[in-house]
Amino acid sequence: MKQTKKLTRPYSKPSMVKLGGPLYAKHGAASNNSVPVRTSISKVPVSELAQKFGSPLFVFSEDAIRNAFTNYTEVFKRFYPKMVFGWSYKTNYLKAICAIFHEEGAIAEVVSDFEYEKARALGVPGEQIIFNGPYKPKAALKRAIEEGAVIHVDSMDEIYQIESIATEIKLTARVGLRVNMNTGVYPQWSRFGLNIESGQAMDAARRLAKAPGIDFEGIHCHIGTFMLSVQAYEIAAEKMANLFLEIESDTGIRLKYIDMGGGFPSKSHLKGVYQSPEVAVPNISEYAIAITSCLKRIFADSELPTLVLEAGRHLIDEAGFLITSVISRKLLPDARRAYVLDAGVNLLYTSTWYRPVFELDGDEGSFLEPAVLFGPLCMNIDVVDNSLMLPPLRVGKRLVLSPVGAYNVTQWMQFIQYRPAVVLVRKNGKVDLIRHKESLEAVENLEVLPEDLQQKQATVLGFKSRNVS
Ligand SMILES: *Cc1c(COP(=O)(O)O)cnc(C)c1O
Repeated sequence: MKQTKKLTRPYSKPSMVKLGGPLYAKHGAASNNSVPVRTSISKVPVSELAQKFGSPLFVFSEDAIRNAFTNYTEVFKRFYPKMVFGWSYKTNYLKAICAIFHEEGAIAEVVSDFEYEKARALGVPGEQIIFNGPYKPKAALKRAIEEGAVIHVDSMDEIYQIESIATEIKLTARVGLRVNMNTGVYPQWSRFGLNIESGQAMDAARRLAKAPGIDFEGIHCHIGTFMLSVQAYEIAAEKMANLFLEIESDTGIRLKYIDMGGGFPSKSHLKGVYQSPEVAVPNISEYAIAITSCLKRIFADSELPTLVLEAGRHLIDEAGFLITSVISRKLLPDARRAYVLDAGVNLLYTSTWYRPVFELDGDEGSFLEPAVLFGPLCMNIDVVDNSLMLPPLRVGKRLVLSPVGAYNVTQWMQFIQYRPAVVLVRKNGKVDLIRHKESLEAVENLEVLPEDLQQKQATVLGFKSRNVS
């Protein structure tokens, strides 16, 4: 019989790879075909973070958060004297993150009873909370009225409900009116609040102006998210200012504020946008000028209303990173290289619409081949990236994804895998754990196993081991 030669290295099937990338010019290939490298986050080595806290790992930079907030608020304050800044909880409501924004002077913008409770538990007083959203349960409305939060009504039904609660508890509710409008950006966000062009917003304003138990304080819009159009804000500001004045002339009530919501983009790559974020994303000062110059022009002869903003994404996206590692490699039947990572779409909800930058923790050379990145889920849809040019990566090789600070640590799922730890690199370089990696106990905490189903498993399982008699 033929003796098989003992292999010293595991066999790997040879393959041919069609080289993509630039065409060869007469001086050879273009030399910019390398993958960006990142070996540290806020000066802390990626290897140190992963060794100490595990992989995958979400990392936030306190410096980046504070700098983003300072830059944004300074820009607006330069153009407009009466500003109030809210922090959008749903964008990232980890306590440590919210606490930083509050310390910087932001009030809380919440969109549910859960977020309201979170802000209160963190010590934010009721009067420093803007309560938005299409569903505010009765108990939450009652609490918000009692605690003096500003409630932005989303529908006529909500107005009736607030009237009835406020009269019942003999208190006055602070109320703002959420409106929507055509800003030339489609699809139009017409499902929140009441529409300006159809006259519904004005009808609601008339009702609020004379409703019992209601102090009508302002108008609010939030025209979309990742809005690349500066002009849309200009149109919105103009419509808001005109509505403000129409409310005054019609009802005699001069409101206190105009809330223009959030929606300012981060330097993230929205899929389908051809240009790089550096080119496609306008500077925040362009938005500030568009909004504030419009308000200053329309209110030239009268007192300026307070301008409220509720940014989320713009302030936190670039402060967040995800460290992930290669678990295994394979070659797909179509000859593409594939890597399985320990982080997948369970942690990167936003990867459906945004393509993060993939950086390698260390240079791996410039022989690049097309690669697919899969996540760790036992689900075919768990694809982190479908077509990336990467050098050959070893098992254990770490990648750093960014910007991922907005919406991922709120929209991530507990599905199949534990959700990983989140850390914050402090100003002084110290690294603080701000959310533990999940444990079986944490995940099962809310489950209840009925008594008659306990302890029965041993007798019903039929898949016995050969070694156990
Ligand atoms: C989500 C939300 C925001 C923040 O939006 P970004 O796009 O993250 O800036 C602000 N206001 C309201 C009402 C929201 O629903």
